[in-house]
Amino acid sequence: MNEDDKGHTPEAAGNEPAENQASRSGRSGRTAGRAREPIVIGGVSVHPGQRCYVDLPLPPLYTHTSVAMPVHVIHGKQPGPVLFVTAAIHGDEINGIEIIRRLLATKSLSRLAGTLIAVPVVNVYGFVSQSRYLPDRRDLNRSFPGSEQGSMAARLADTLMSEIVAKCTHGIDLHTAAEGRANLPQIRVDLDAHPDLLELAEAFAPPILLDSHTRDGTLRSAAGSLPLLLYEAGEALRFDELAIRAGLKGVLRVMRHLNMLPANKGVDKKSKPWLANNSVWMRAPQSGILRSRIPLGGIVEEGVVLGYISDPFGEAEQAVVSDVSGVLIGITKLPLVHEGEALYHVATTASTKSAARAVDEFRLEYEQPLIKRLK
Ligand SMILES: [Zn+2]
Repeated sequence: MNEDDKGHTPEAAGNEPAENQASRSGRSGRTAGRAREPIVIGGVSVHPGQRCYVDLPLPPLYTHTSVAMPVHVIHGKQPGPVLFVTAAIHGDEINGIEIIRRLLATKSLSRLAGTLIAVPVVNVYGFVSQSRYLPDRRDLNRSFPGSEQGSMAARLADTLMSEIVAKCTHGIDLHTAAEGRANLPQIRVDLDAHPDLLELAEAFAPPILLDSHTRDGTLRSAAGSLPLLLYEAGEALRFDELAIRAGLKGVLRVMRHLNMLPANKGVDKKSKPWLANNSVWMRAPQSGILRSRIPLGGIVEEGVVLGYISDPFGEAEQAVVSDVSGVLIGITKLPLVHEGEALYHVATTASTKSAARAVDEFRLEYEQPLIKRLK
């Protein structure tokens, strides 16, 4: 669905013929002495030193229009990890698509060791209809690992698993909050199941690491032992410059950490993320119109008023009080709420000091350069 889509046409990423480059020994020396193998995605062989667009066929629309999942494969000249970066598993979560567009334009990819497989639009159907879901109203991220003969969502999930995930050693899945909500940039990992992921998550350097159990049916649970980072930032159907820049920088940092890209010349002054082991949603005590007092990323102390809900006349007003201390990592953007609706997502902590420092450092890193650039 991309105008730049060149179909199944491999291009040389470097200046030399792939055959010459492939015979060199790699950084890890894993394939020293013999040619690096091509990677095969969707039946297309991508040779070392080549970049290639591959269309993975999906069930066509009932209009007889064919549909494919667009994939960009960069197979480095040198051996190394095989990393997938996926976006828009929920079709309306578009920040990740822009992160991948900027990632693919990064010059240092010409010196890639290993393989990058970028899938900017996994849920093609939802993306076209600007919806989180598939046409059958299923949530793709509750349909993994999927199956060849299952529902539409199961078939799409199966295509991603068999053609991409099964061939990778690492993954990064890019998300935003659901429609009408916004998330502070955060990485979610399940440290009980994957204690080894802490190092990779810290390399990404978001302000917040949320240690949360995986739900059944998600890509994260289907990935099993494969190290997978889930990035959550911004809101659906919007570009959020801070979330995009932090996402791009995070992906590049992970790639450098894995030695897929050469190290930065200067020192990368990344801050240490704050690790949250728990989070809770504060819900609307009554239906009405919400006025929020605390912005995303704000520090919350137990008992503080997060917002007020009143009727349209300003009467029957009730405060939304936090019963925990922590950081506001998710917030509703739509002020029209029903009783019981989730309004504020708070990552909890007994001491908010280190959390506040992590959020402040993150803001300093991203917001100041943003302001400078706009002047
Ligand atoms: Zn999502």
